[in-house]
Amino acid sequence: MLYYRCYALWKTFFQKLGMETVVSAPTDREIMERGTALAIDEACLSLKVYLGHVAALVGRCDYILAPRVSNFGRQRAMCTRFESTPDLVRNVFRDSRQKFLSYEVDAEQKKGEEDAFLEMGKELGCTAKEAKRAYKAAKKAELVQHKARVQKQEQLCRREGMKILIAAHSYVAEDPYMGKTVTDYLKKAGIIPLRADLVDRDAALKRSRELSSTCKWEISREILGGIALRRETVDGIILLSAFPCGPDAMVNELIARRVKDVPLLNLVLDSQSGTAGVETRLESFIDIIRFKEGKL
Ligand code: SF4
Repeated sequence: MLYYRCYALWKTFFQKLGMETVVSAPTDREIMERGTALAIDEACLSLKVYLGHVAALVGRCDYILAPRVSNFGRQRAMCTRFESTPDLVRNVFRDSRQKFLSYEVDAEQKKGEEDAFLEMGKELGCTAKEAKRAYKAAKKAELVQHKARVQKQEQLCRREGMKILIAAHSYVAEDPYMGKTVTDYLKKAGIIPLRADLVDRDAALKRSRELSSTCKWEISREILGGIALRRETVDGIILLSAFPCGPDAMVNELIARRVKDVPLLNLVLDSQSGTAGVETRLESFIDIIRFKEGKL
C-alpha cells in the first residue's frame, strides 16, 4: 500500500545493494478478486487489493517486502493495517515457500527508518557501510521524486480552468482499479485534477491544524494540510475512500463539517462500485459546481 509513496526509496535501496526489484502488474479485476478471496470480509478494499498483489508476486522473487510502519512520532501514526501487514502476509501465505522481508518503523519506540533499513541490509548479507550508502541514495531519490511531483501540481494549479482536488490516500488515488478511474474521468471532462497529498509534507502537517489539532494519522494529516493549502485554488473537492476505511470515515466527516466554502463530494469505492455509478456521481458533481459558478 505504500508503493506509490515509497517506490523510489525501495527501488533505489535495493538497486544500490545490487539487487533486482520485481513489481506486480497494475491492479486489474483478477488481482482484486484474488485479494478479496484471501481477505476477511471486514478488510478495506485497499487491503484486499494489497493481498491480491502479494499473491501475484508469490513464487516470482526471493523475498517479498512487507514493511511494518507504525508511526513517525507522536500524533504521526499510520493506520493499524500498516502495522499488521508483515504478520498478515506470513499467515495468509504460510503454505507457500515464499520468504518475506520486513523492516519496522516505530519512532515512538525509538525505531527510526534509517536504523530499520540498516537492519534490513544486514539481513540481506550487506555490510553496515553498504546499507548506509544505499539508504542515503534511496532517501535522496525519494525526496527528488516527491519534489518533482509537487512541482507538477504547482504548475497545474497555475493553469486556467476548473480544478478539483482529490483527497485520498495515494494507494486509492493512483490505483488503476480504484481512484485512477476518477482522475481519468475528470481529465476527459476537461477538469484539472489536483491531489491533496501531493504537497510539501512539512507544510501540510503544519497547516492540517487549521482543520484538526487532534487528528493522529500521518497520511490523514497530510491530506487535511493539502486541503488547507489548496482550498482557495480549487472549485471542488472529492473525498475519495476505499470501503470500509476507519480513518477516512472520521476524517471525511470532520472535513465536511469544517470546509463549507468549497463544494464537496464524498465518494466511497468498493469492489462492486463499477465505473457507471461513479461516473454518474462525478457528472452531477461537476454540474453542481458549474451551476454554482453560473456556467450552466
Ligand atoms: S487508512 Fe483506510 S484504506 Fe488505508 S489501510 Fe487503513 S482502513 Fe484501509
